[in-house]
Amino acid sequence: MKAVALYSGGLDSILACRMIMYQGIEVLATQFVTPFFLHHLLDNKEFYCQKVADQYGITLRLEDISHNYLHMLQRPAHGFGKNFNPCIDCKILMMRRARQIMEEVGASFLISGEVLRQRPMSQRRDTLAVIERDAGVRGILLRPLSAKRLNPTLPEVNGWVRREELGDLSGRGRSGQIALAKEYGITDYPMPAGGCILTDPIQGRRLRKVHDGALPFAAATMTVTDFHLLQLGRQFLLPGGGWLILGRDEKENNRIENLAEADDACLRLEARPGPTALLRRASTCYKDESARNDDLQRAAGLVVRYARKEPLRPETLVRCLLAGAVIPLKASAPDDEICQSWML
Ligand code: SF4
Repeated sequence: MKAVALYSGGLDSILACRMIMYQGIEVLATQFVTPFFLHHLLDNKEFYCQKVADQYGITLRLEDISHNYLHMLQRPAHGFGKNFNPCIDCKILMMRRARQIMEEVGASFLISGEVLRQRPMSQRRDTLAVIERDAGVRGILLRPLSAKRLNPTLPEVNGWVRREELGDLSGRGRSGQIALAKEYGITDYPMPAGGCILTDPIQGRRLRKVHDGALPFAAATMTVTDFHLLQLGRQFLLPGGGWLILGRDEKENNRIENLAEADDACLRLEARPGPTALLRRASTCYKDESARNDDLQRAAGLVVRYARKEPLRPETLVRCLLAGAVIPLKASAPDDEICQSWML
């Protein structure tokens, strides 16, 4: 008997896996990543999966679902939560994919670490039922931590899993989970943390603006790289229509440079260290050349503004790389009110 687990990395999903493994069932855990949560895990995939195996005895695979996620995010059928979080559709998407994996690996059911009434939007009794229905997992999705408070599922009815040994947790409290962790000898586990930037009010506001068409290209055409860039540094919408991303430190500058693509313009100070700025799709998103040139000049001004102040000169040379050509731009810092008015 084999089950596929939806694994989030938090204590609840660790416990759900362990509870089912304890009943002698093989569990294959899957953790999904998108540009909005846990994408960095892909940088060191094998190391992370091995760490989970060593620490919790759980066999884990990571899967990047960014492409389908961005598609869903354009118009989530069940809407958004308090910020830009489409939690219900997010879960439906993940469970649909988990069901496919279940069939691919010959497993018989799914498990998740969800706890009844733990979250206001996606873990109410009626919402759990909607998620099951829309994801096509009714009866085959077992939520071990709250199982005794929910209708019996196929694995319980068929006797694959002993229902009496499952949990009856409900609500936001953590004492039940902490007691269970102790029981399973799990001492080192992650604290519950908001790892999803879609629930962050500041990022959420920015994402909503973008979703509503703030950028010079349609939200539907945005790529995974666009969403990574959107989470970096300072963000500006320039009067000519351009979208500018400006690094706040060396780490962000390097990341911006790594994410830059052929049609982007990259700007840096010529003679000393300073921020890297990226004018996204500068070669292709402007209808007329003078609008692009004006925005490049403004971008150069912002590079000067956010560089370290010394030595101050009325005009500083900024190096702009666009479509393989280097364009030198002389710029001075715009007033702070102007910079503020351009912020995304
Ligand atoms: S918080 Fe983020 S990852 Fe979690 S269900 Fe909501 S949208 Fe999905």
